[in-house]
Amino acid sequence: MWNRGWRELAWDQLDQKWDMIIIGGGITGAGIFRLASQLGLKVLLIEKHDFAYGTSSKSSKLVHGGLRYLKNYQFKVTYESVQERQRLLKIDPNLVLPLVFVLPVYKYYDIPTWKFELALAIYDFFGRKRAHGKFANQDIEKCCPQLNKTDLTDVLFYHDAVVDDARLVLCTLRKGVENGGLVINYAYVQKLISNRKGKVIGVLINDQESLGKNRYKEIFGSVIINATGPWSDDLRKHFTNQKIIRKLRGSHLIFPKNKLPIEQAYLLNHPSDGRSIFAIPWENTTIIGTTDLDHPEEYERLKPEPFITIEEVDYLLTGINTVFPQIKLSEKDILSTFSGLRPIVNSGSVDPSKASRAHKIIAEHGFYTIAGGKLTTYLRMAEDLVKRVSHEVSLPHKAKKQICTEKPTYQLPSKLNISKDEIMRLSGRLGNDLQAFLSHSKPEEFSKIDNTNTTWAELRWSALEEGILHLDDLLLRRTHIGLLCENGAKKYQKRIQTIIQAELGWDNFKWKEEWKKYIMLWNQCYYLPS
Ligand SMILES: Cc1cc2nc3c(=O)[nH]c(=O)nc-3n(C[C@H](O)[C@H](O)[C@H](O)COP(=O)(O)OP(=O)(O)OC[C@H]3O[C@@H](n4cnc5c(N)ncnc54)[C@H](O)[C@@H]3O)c2cc1C
Repeated sequence: MWNRGWRELAWDQLDQKWDMIIIGGGITGAGIFRLASQLGLKVLLIEKHDFAYGTSSKSSKLVHGGLRYLKNYQFKVTYESVQERQRLLKIDPNLVLPLVFVLPVYKYYDIPTWKFELALAIYDFFGRKRAHGKFANQDIEKCCPQLNKTDLTDVLFYHDAVVDDARLVLCTLRKGVENGGLVINYAYVQKLISNRKGKVIGVLINDQESLGKNRYKEIFGSVIINATGPWSDDLRKHFTNQKIIRKLRGSHLIFPKNKLPIEQAYLLNHPSDGRSIFAIPWENTTIIGTTDLDHPEEYERLKPEPFITIEEVDYLLTGINTVFPQIKLSEKDILSTFSGLRPIVNSGSVDPSKASRAHKIIAEHGFYTIAGGKLTTYLRMAEDLVKRVSHEVSLPHKAKKQICTEKPTYQLPSKLNISKDEIMRLSGRLGNDLQAFLSHSKPEEFSKIDNTNTTWAELRWSALEEGILHLDDLLLRRTHIGLLCENGAKKYQKRIQTIIQAELGWDNFKWKEEWKKYIMLWNQCYYLPS
């Protein structure tokens, strides 16, 4: 869909009068893009970097109600999120996967077992499904052998779901393009354009890939949407210096599965402050997260992307080692790290963890900012936004169309011998591209890269068809092998180079530049702080 030469064609198609222009290619923008195009609007989405470059590739990957929000009495957010979790499990069953959580309760927790059980009962009630319980004493050793048993009162369990966040963004964008929408990456919205009455009617974009030519374009639309997440206030400067966003950093550690072998996810209370932290099994690794800290502006100038601090590493290691003391995890076991910025709409709460996760739509002179919310609630956010702007555009399909499951059909080429489970996994990631992928791929490339679930065939397909402009797009977002393999997948450098050069036509100079840039980024933002 987004093969070589695609972007130039997209650039040439920008000069049209759009019904809706969406700024920001994270999950919020992607969800609106998909829905608006499905409703028959002529819609354009502009992303300044790679798709899912922002928070939407740096979340904890959970599609969840957020049990911890109940602690702060955020019932509405939890209710909506649980409902959305159920909806996503239904419409995207091969990408959004059920996940069992284990919740050990210790004597030192500030919450007793009965309160957790009450919260889980509410959680299940919201999802109209009973899916929680308590392990019998004799089963605890069997299910969680590594768990610290000292001061352990009970072990509960419940259900949520997990998703590849960056892939969810890509799949959502792909649906929008299939509906007739247009997307462009590496195009920076530099300025808003207003008419004489002050209404925002267009944007000035700068092509980030024009290599010294400094290409600009003015584009006009009936309604302009600001879905730039943590950066929402940058564009709002057009009217006001009053900020609405509080950027809260959350960081994660990734360990190889053999260092912290867990089969289910764990919800834990940190011993130092009682905050919830997670341990999540993901593609043969274990992710530990997350922190919740104000992200100072000077940090954004320091490094190209959010990064973990040494204090956060210590905090997460302490949290996990308290509950799994025999494993004794240390810095040297860490495979990689990643950090993202929560685009929280400032509610005045001092404690970051108590800040509301609800989304908000703010209309200013025909310019609509949508921020806050969660990955889990992206469809609901899209529906709210489209409803809110419906007076600005005439919707060709008046009836509200439901976003529904579409099972991609495929015929397995006889040369390929792939299990049904693997086909399901691929269909979740590739949607309607599945058939083209199967027909195009070489059987010998269906081996997995290292311990990940990703095959070499997928890496090649991403390079060829998924809008890759830079190496980090491929290794950190289309696939995650930069996070899941040791040293950012350095040992596969040669093989990746061969694939990229064949599919994208990069010469040796371009390859070397890209590799150097990627390794520098990885060291600065995806590994331990130096
Ligand atoms: C640590 C952490 C863990 C989380 N875990 C979960 C979780 O497990 N489950 C869950 O449901 N939610 C989770 N969330 C919340 C969720 O990830 C975010 O709410 C969501 O990803 C925000 O998406 P977004 O599209 O609004 O912002 P983003 O994903 O940041 O997208 C905004 C995009 O706008 C682009 N942009 C910015 N300025 C411009 C411009 N001028 N021109 C063009 N483009 C521009 C950026 O490049 C970026 O790609 C987590 C968040 C964090 C930080």
